[in-house]
Amino acid sequence: MILKVAVPVPLRHSFDYLPPENTSPEDLQVGARVLVPFGRRQVVGFLVGWDEDGSDIPRARLKTALAVLDRPALLSPDDWEVLLWASRYYHHPLGETVASAFPVLLRQGRPASRDLPQHLCLTEEGRRAEAGKRAARQTLLLDWMRQQESGIPLAELNALDWDWRAPARALIQRGWASIVEVAPTGESPERTSEPALHLNAEQASAFDAVAAALGSYAAFLLEGVTGSGKTEVYLQLVSAVLERGGQAMLLLPEIGLTPQLLERFRRRFAVPIAVFHSGLNEPERLRAWLSVQSGESPILIGARSAVFTPMARPGLIILDEEHDTSFKQQEGFRFSARDVAVMRARRLGIPILLGSATPSLESLNNAHAGRYRHLRLLRRAGEAQPPVFRLVDIRAQKLKEGLSRPLIDAIEDTLARDEQVLLFINRRGFAPTVICHACGWVAGCRRCDARLVLHAGDEKLCCHHCGHEQPRPRACPACGASDLRPLGLGTERLERALAQQFPGVPALRIDRDSTRRKGSLEDMLEDIHQRRANILIGTQMLAKGHHFPHVTLVAILDVDAGLYSSDFRAGERTAQMILQVAGRAGRAERPGSVILQTRHPQHPLLLRLIRQGYPGFAEAALSERQAAALPPFSHQALFRAEATGEPAARSLLERLRAIAAETGSDVTLLGPAPAPLPRKAGRHRCQLLLQHDARAPLHRLLGHLLDRIDTLPETKQARWSLDVDPLDLY
Ligand code: ADP
Ligand code: ZN
Ligand code: ZN
Repeated sequence: MILKVAVPVPLRHSFDYLPPENTSPEDLQVGARVLVPFGRRQVVGFLVGWDEDGSDIPRARLKTALAVLDRPALLSPDDWEVLLWASRYYHHPLGETVASAFPVLLRQGRPASRDLPQHLCLTEEGRRAEAGKRAARQTLLLDWMRQQESGIPLAELNALDWDWRAPARALIQRGWASIVEVAPTGESPERTSEPALHLNAEQASAFDAVAAALGSYAAFLLEGVTGSGKTEVYLQLVSAVLERGGQAMLLLPEIGLTPQLLERFRRRFAVPIAVFHSGLNEPERLRAWLSVQSGESPILIGARSAVFTPMARPGLIILDEEHDTSFKQQEGFRFSARDVAVMRARRLGIPILLGSATPSLESLNNAHAGRYRHLRLLRRAGEAQPPVFRLVDIRAQKLKEGLSRPLIDAIEDTLARDEQVLLFINRRGFAPTVICHACGWVAGCRRCDARLVLHAGDEKLCCHHCGHEQPRPRACPACGASDLRPLGLGTERLERALAQQFPGVPALRIDRDSTRRKGSLEDMLEDIHQRRANILIGTQMLAKGHHFPHVTLVAILDVDAGLYSSDFRAGERTAQMILQVAGRAGRAERPGSVILQTRHPQHPLLLRLIRQGYPGFAEAALSERQAAALPPFSHQALFRAEATGEPAARSLLERLRAIAAETGSDVTLLGPAPAPLPRKAGRHRCQLLLQHDARAPLHRLLGHLLDRIDTLPETKQARWSLDVDPLDLY
């Protein structure tokens, strides 16, 4: 018998091994981890299958697998099928694809056990016993255990400055105490769960539609304006799934995994909730994964990579903010967690609910085509009113550090009413770059085709693409003049300008730099809720997922950046961004207003968005895409190549183009062309875009190109990657 093993290396085939001694076919299950010798290393691979008739390789040259690590496998046959599909669809090596479903410790071969914390606990007998006269330390342990419902964690005992083991052993030998493993439920036993809200009519009909579909596959798109009560619908659906004994998976953008959201779930459900966020260490990640895989945690909340987590009793997948581009992994295994989640739900035979205030055009198109059922929440829940939009034409205005007079007046009025203001600018740092006022020299990165960003707090110039940093020069490197000025506006500069304009008004800047320290974002959010800050300045970090009941004025300082971009998705992104930011305003009883500063007040996208809302915008945007045969009315794949010289990157892609031409395929090829950022960290980047109305011919061609690519001499000089359904064309 020969084992076929997928090894996590960038090779597209599996490897043959002889089974470990004494392996019978009953021990084998597809998807099980297998420890195998690979070159000079030992690696953890995954069992793809086995063959009675042997291998193309002579038996004498076959190596023997060292061990089958899982019996049974940790993945169900359906989970395995989803991974096979993902490997085929994204043309990504199977071993690496499967590995991405496992936490790092399991990929390294750790046993699938949770290493639960151990506690020293009283036994029933110990509870009843008369302690009588015992050694002092035994008495101390007995008293301590009587006070602690779930015993004393060994970690606490180990921290004592005396040896607890001898007295504990005496108690254990008498049968009064024992060491037990305690599952970390995080729940205190007396906790009650908070009751559900009474759903309004729109919420109730969305809930009913999904609840009626539990037990089989169905896909739903829940389009609900911000504050319309989507999360409440999720909560009640999760509750319905739990009542049926199932498990629910809630996927969110990492940025949306806010303490507020988690707290809402913890208050509602007195059950263990497995939360996957980037702050977990590896043992915690393993424990969370196993608690879902084993069925102990009925609820999983996580970001993109949690989509592959096996569930013992799958019941429902919910993916919130489904339009968010962070669901697409942008490196390595470039999968879309949204699309994988839909495939997974189909395979598992459970419903999937995609939610957003601003659904992606892809999902709206799926809804129009009848593949998803379209559910709508048009009104805000509770008392909150929709915000009022106002375009401020800044062409003829003298701006004070990016602030127009009407905006300054509106801020003053809002502060006078003792309400909060949120100013949005999607550029961190002090200014996007510095310019020489004498000769026009602009600070650029030596290794990238990009400007260096001024960070004034530390007087540094930084490249946001390669991480290069240097002190801000005192004189112009080109002409020697000393008149170097910041050019443009970033969050830091805006913060300083506001401090001058509104002295004494506490302001808070929230961006990646100001929240680098762990816990600082939570502290700042708390300051906002306690109204210790009245002006909030933020990047998109502030635009998503947070509720700010006292914010009644929201302003976007520069909406124009997204209006004239070469990326065909820029309009969609801009519309989504505007509505997400606007959604922060006036969520409580006071209505909110939104000011958009623009130099293009007649721009059709802006006007349509303001007059007709997102649905009107989306309808127009979809017909434009259809007319131009762009996604979702066609399908794309992007080959990227990079090398130390531009010709090497280009010639690999030219070769691929030539091979494609030989096949006679009718897939459209665009390029090779320089990437939007043609040079990054000293490497030249080119790309080749493939496009077709139908998926099948595109994927046939991709398969053909990938069969050939590793044999091409050009790959020695250039690194390449393939992105199926690319979201960012660079
Ligand atoms: P979304 O997820 O669509 O932004 P949420 O579920 O967070 O909306 O709801 C917005 C606000 O409205 C929350 O404060 C929530 O408690 C409240 N809310 C939601 N549903 C109801 C309801 N049926 N009755 C009263 N208040 C509700
Ligand atoms: Zn100069
Ligand atoms: Zn750089």
